[in-house]
Amino acid sequence: MLETNRYQRQVLFVPIGETGQTKLSQSHVLIVGAGALGSSSAEALTRAGIGQLTLIDRDYVEESNLQRQQLFSETDMKQKTPKAIAARQRLAEVNHHVQIHAIVGDAEVDILRKVVPEADLIIDATDNFETRLILNDIAQKYQKPWIYGAVVASYGITFTVLPDKTPCLQCLQAYIPAYGATCDSVGIIQPVVQKVVSHQVTEALKLLTGNEADLSGKLISFDLWKNAHTEIDIAALRKKDCPSCSENRSYPNLAYESRMKTTKLCGRNTVQLRSQRKSTDLSEVAKELQKNKQIKLFQNPYLLSFEIDSYRVVLFQDGRTLVHGTMDQQEAKKIYHRYLG
Ligand SMILES: [Zn+2]
Repeated sequence: MLETNRYQRQVLFVPIGETGQTKLSQSHVLIVGAGALGSSSAEALTRAGIGQLTLIDRDYVEESNLQRQQLFSETDMKQKTPKAIAARQRLAEVNHHVQIHAIVGDAEVDILRKVVPEADLIIDATDNFETRLILNDIAQKYQKPWIYGAVVASYGITFTVLPDKTPCLQCLQAYIPAYGATCDSVGIIQPVVQKVVSHQVTEALKLLTGNEADLSGKLISFDLWKNAHTEIDIAALRKKDCPSCSENRSYPNLAYESRMKTTKLCGRNTVQLRSQRKSTDLSEVAKELQKNKQIKLFQNPYLLSFEIDSYRVVLFQDGRTLVHGTMDQQEAKKIYHRYLG
């Protein structure tokens, strides 16, 4: 039984109506990441009356999150509450009808294999490219639509991937900014989050209420500060030989060998990471890192090294990275994604 008053304004909206509202109440969305994008889309879907939400996030709430991660409070920060748990608490206050599943952990292949089949669609709210590649392949494998979204500084980008219908992230890689810039290196303003989430949640509502014909079909990117907006029609960009979505697909990002490898270096306070990105343009990375004045940078023809807080990070051309200053593999990964995307 729908609470007609609660959702009345949304039901009045013709493309949704009573039928769409009922479909929403029976839908299950997986949101990967409960940071800025994740908390904002989770709140929007919770208010819209989604049936179930699953949230995955590995972090806890920190002070620097409060500027843009709308579900979290100073109390969450003081208690170092895991983001997925803090989000669930807040969302339950917003709409107690929604079933919320909170998973505190890395969005790794094994966890995603369990939760993706249960979901009707996936919203990408992660902060790193490795996870998005995994998400891309697993969504194809289980035939689930997923909505890419990324933000940094005043820039945002989003598109919707429909298995076997649209190009996937692998197909569109050339249209996505190269890695290097992250919210921790060049910062972020909050409105850019809302704009990407507006697109992501609207696309989700279209899909879940049976309005697939209204999907945008575009890769949308914008820079709010520079007043720039670009739309690329993606229909023709599907690659015939794509390893993730073509007929001869192999889902390379789900293979154990291609996942990011971390190794503790014996006797040293150092973790080595091996990324699945084949080659690294170190000068591109350096250019992005230079924007953060707190980072001390050093570069020679073979490697790039930078210091931040108590860590020293060294990147090699072959995709290897050393994180000095920790023995903890999860912490090393976090530092890697924080500054290198
Ligand atoms: Zn593809």
